[in-house]
Amino acid sequence: MRQPTVPPTAGLPLQLGDLWPSGAGSLAGRLAEWLGVDAVQLECSGTSALMVALRSLQALRPGRSEVIAPAYTCPLVALAISQCGLQLRLCDLRADVLDMDPVCLQHLCSERTLAVLPTHLCGRVADVDAALSCARAVGAYVIEDAAQALGARSGAASVGLKGDIGFFSLAVGKGLSTFEGGVLVAREPSMRAALAAAGASTRFSPWWELRRSIELLGYALLYRPSGLRMAYGRPLQDSLARGDWVEAAGDDFGDLIPQHRLGRWRQRVGARALRRLAAFQRQTSVQAALRIAQLQASGLEVVQDAVPQAQGVWPVILLRMPNPQARDAVLRAHWGDGCGLSLPFVHVLPDYGRYDHVLGAARDDAVGQARNWAQRLLAISNSPWLDEARFAQLSAQIRAAAGLE
Ligand SMILES: *Cc1c(COP(=O)(O)O)cnc(C)c1O
Repeated sequence: MRQPTVPPTAGLPLQLGDLWPSGAGSLAGRLAEWLGVDAVQLECSGTSALMVALRSLQALRPGRSEVIAPAYTCPLVALAISQCGLQLRLCDLRADVLDMDPVCLQHLCSERTLAVLPTHLCGRVADVDAALSCARAVGAYVIEDAAQALGARSGAASVGLKGDIGFFSLAVGKGLSTFEGGVLVAREPSMRAALAAAGASTRFSPWWELRRSIELLGYALLYRPSGLRMAYGRPLQDSLARGDWVEAAGDDFGDLIPQHRLGRWRQRVGARALRRLAAFQRQTSVQAALRIAQLQASGLEVVQDAVPQAQGVWPVILLRMPNPQARDAVLRAHWGDGCGLSLPFVHVLPDYGRYDHVLGAARDDAVGQARNWAQRLLAISNSPWLDEARFAQLSAQIRAAAGLE
């Protein structure tokens, strides 16, 4: 029997019953309750949510033109900033933890800075207080990019609430999914009003909603060990056969970010599935804790939250390999063989080339340490479909490549 294809991240599988949602309540209401906040604002994607956040801040500080993000992040962040007419600046990373370097951040912050984007990459909780102190010193805002961190907590509260604005993604593979979707949160009622005003002009689009509904239906049907071979495994193998790692990692985005409303049926599907998210995240945290202990005991370096007292979420277990050669050897041998190996992102933003037109001056920002991270990171899926036997096999292969056998 062929082994099932493991998805690259631990997304919450939909059940067929989610597709006939009745009595599930409103997604916005349920999410607000789940996150422990007064209200959330739904958008059609995480990227669209970021654009609404940026526009709300542009209205508050019209003279400011720059947005600072980590040099290693989702290329959609760069596209969103550019589409808002703002200039991206790239902050290098710390050597010890996967987070922005506060010294570098302080150098980049100026009276031109509109916002700083601490990013909870792969569910790892970033140091938002450090970003806040740099931003506040120059009168800038903080937007927490929690696209990959729905359910992560810092202290007693959800991530996304220390900064002025936070956003989560409901895209495929990021936990709870409406195929595409985004969630905005803000602690202060005045900021929520600014977000509502910035999002008010977004219209319902029957064409986009039909397309996304069909995609969500396909996802519900195919997001199972058997369906994933066709929907995910084969296209991945094709990309890898062409040597196209950017396409294989899903980092190949077009320029235009669609903005429209998140339709009612998809919201209800999300609200039904949300009822299972807490239990699913407890299960995946337990699995991650056991596997992290094994990986660390064998001498591998597992990437942790950047701050103490945080409980991140575990869509993947991130490893930092000893060097780029060892990382690439594992990928060449095992990426695409169905065991759930992947990359968060292939490159630091200036190294793609294809995003140069939106980077502008950011192409000259220092990104050396971030590039070192980009070349050494390796993500192991934390999906429950990666069973013990295959995890053991995979970790032995990784140990061998890292020279630990
Ligand atoms: C995926 C992602 C986004 C964008 O979210 P979408 O819902 O896919 O538009 C933004 N930031 C980070 C770090 C992401 O991983």
